[in-house]
Amino acid sequence: MCSIITHPAVPLALSGFLPQENVSPALLLAGAVCSIIPDLDVVGFRFGISYGDILGHCGFTHSLLFAVILAALLMFTLFRNRAGKTWVILLFLFLSTLSHPLLDMLTNGGLGVALFAPFIDERYFFPWRPIEVSPLTVGKFFSDWGGRVIISELKWVWLPSAVAFTIGPVIRRYR
Ligand SMILES: [Zn+2]
Repeated sequence: MCSIITHPAVPLALSGFLPQENVSPALLLAGAVCSIIPDLDVVGFRFGISYGDILGHCGFTHSLLFAVILAALLMFTLFRNRAGKTWVILLFLFLSTLSHPLLDMLTNGGLGVALFAPFIDERYFFPWRPIEVSPLTVGKFFSDWGGRVIISELKWVWLPSAVAFTIGPVIRRYR
């Protein structure tokens, strides 16, 4: 997994590419929350759910289906009567949620991500995993390990996201 503070970098970068009439502070906040929500599955440890279980860490909440459900749920509750095109908001919320497991698949530790749960149990990583995996506990984050995680996430997530956020408006104007 990536650290919880880093996941929102992707929806923020993504927002630079959206037609701006769809972008609102509420949507940005929702995108950031969507990018964090999958890791709420760590509460499963407290209830004795094992890591490798479908409801365990990086299980169902890290799947494509979960991203579809969460995006649809938010779209048709919080964003139903808001300005902006339905499909743009839906797609943004879906990609914001999906960005979470995709980033986790780039990390160099853990059991992998159940991207196709509940249909396929297998857990996946990308073949290239440059991001230092984040510890599961806050205590371990305040160590050399945490320092390596921060440097790695700055390099592989925040920097590319900042570049994307900058070129997004240029591409929009060109289009
Ligand atoms: Zn995760």
